[in-house]
Amino acid sequence: MNKVIAVINQLEFSSYASQPWRDFANTYEALCHKLNFIKEIYTLTPQTFTQKAHITTYDILKEMQAYIHEPTIIVYVDAQAPFLDIELLKKMIQTTQQYHSQYHFAEGYPLGLCAQIIHSSILGDLTILAQEHQDAFLYKTNKYTFFFELLRSKLNDFDIETTLSPIDLREKRIELSYDNKNNAKIAEQFVKAGIFDATTLLANIAKLDQLKVGLPNYYPIQITANCPQECHYCPAPTLPNFNTNKMMDIALYKKILEKIVAFSGEAIIGLSLLGEPALHPEIASFIEITLAHPSLRLHIETSGIGWSQSARETLAQSASPRLSLILSLDSLDRREYETMRGEKFEEAIDFFHFMLENPALKERFWVQRVRLEAQEAGLQAFYHQIKEKHEQIIIQKYHNYAGLLPSQNDINIKPLTRSGCWALQREMSIYLDGSVHLCRVDVSKKHDLGRIPENSLEEIWQKQQEFYRSHLMHDYPMICANCEEYYIYTF
Ligand code: SF4
Repeated sequence: MNKVIAVINQLEFSSYASQPWRDFANTYEALCHKLNFIKEIYTLTPQTFTQKAHITTYDILKEMQAYIHEPTIIVYVDAQAPFLDIELLKKMIQTTQQYHSQYHFAEGYPLGLCAQIIHSSILGDLTILAQEHQDAFLYKTNKYTFFFELLRSKLNDFDIETTLSPIDLREKRIELSYDNKNNAKIAEQFVKAGIFDATTLLANIAKLDQLKVGLPNYYPIQITANCPQECHYCPAPTLPNFNTNKMMDIALYKKILEKIVAFSGEAIIGLSLLGEPALHPEIASFIEITLAHPSLRLHIETSGIGWSQSARETLAQSASPRLSLILSLDSLDRREYETMRGEKFEEAIDFFHFMLENPALKERFWVQRVRLEAQEAGLQAFYHQIKEKHEQIIIQKYHNYAGLLPSQNDINIKPLTRSGCWALQREMSIYLDGSVHLCRVDVSKKHDLGRIPENSLEEIWQKQQEFYRSHLMHDYPMICANCEEYYIYTF
């Protein structure tokens, strides 16, 4: 029998995790109590790495290698996720011992319920893989599966064991952790409902759809109604304010951001709702103001047209893990490009090269094509041409904005059973004058949820949740009944 130790990662420990959790002083104390059947617990804290300004996955693996000197089964957990199921973990350890697995994980459960288990014999290989991996902070970006992400490219070289949940709950995308305000709110709702491990969770399946909604995580915001193109798949040109030079006032934007930070804590701000953000004369300030809030991330979707030299410089200076950008390019063939999007092909290509040539921006940048029936023939060529230049491509599904645009694709990828819309669970769409519509599909304000700053985000969110509760009862307002975006999960 191999020795077993638990490694608790407490490198990040939010103010939410530091609060009392059930009968314990905080989530870390709760985990230590749950893991007391394991004789040795090793906690990774910032003090473990005093010489390091930025701790990478490689550093963590090196530290574990230095600490462990005999064949050992390592149970790895995050200090902010106290819902760990101990009975499940004990069974997984037993199977790991019995079958000499090198990596063991549980599939189908919400994140935060299960540990990753690895054998010390593969720490050396993992360290090499971590050194080669593009994402040096994989342990942060894939907190619950990062060992697997490292092994992925060499799966056949390792003995991997999987424990399956009796019910596959992956599509519910639940993360039970106290790492941010939204997750902490959801986690508290679970605790109040008597759920604190896998057993209690599986006994309350019927309540999960209601309990898993916390706070908005993504705020698409319209900062301009102008756009240099009229793409076939976009409803903006059909709207009365299209290209009327209507812009969001920056003072209003600042107020909106303050309210978002106060309400959601951490959130992603999108600047591309129904307009080309580069056409706002103050786009550089919008970028700077957003990223000045440390808890906010910024997401921009652009045609690449209209970026002045100074706005490009601001983009380049703002390159950070908190910025992401999608270039809606659609084609590298001029004729096809003009059919799909309109003029200014050269400018879009120039922007594409600008992004590719800036290493920090390149990492945070995706090239997108919307899949249209009439242009299906060019899809493969586009994919391969882009892949030669850039790894990150998105092929976007066309949708007709609940009937506003013509139907195009016969490809049906809808789930067999309809669930509550993701946009209602995670997004709040804010239009030019601060008004909030039902969602990003509700471009004509069929459902007015209020206006910022006159209404509080709490008040607006409560109204939005009434629609979500109707969805759970399979009762849909007209726009939702005609919409196919309900199963699209953005952020
Ligand atoms: S179903 Fe469509 S229209 Fe209804 S809220 Fe979701 S995205 Fe909006």
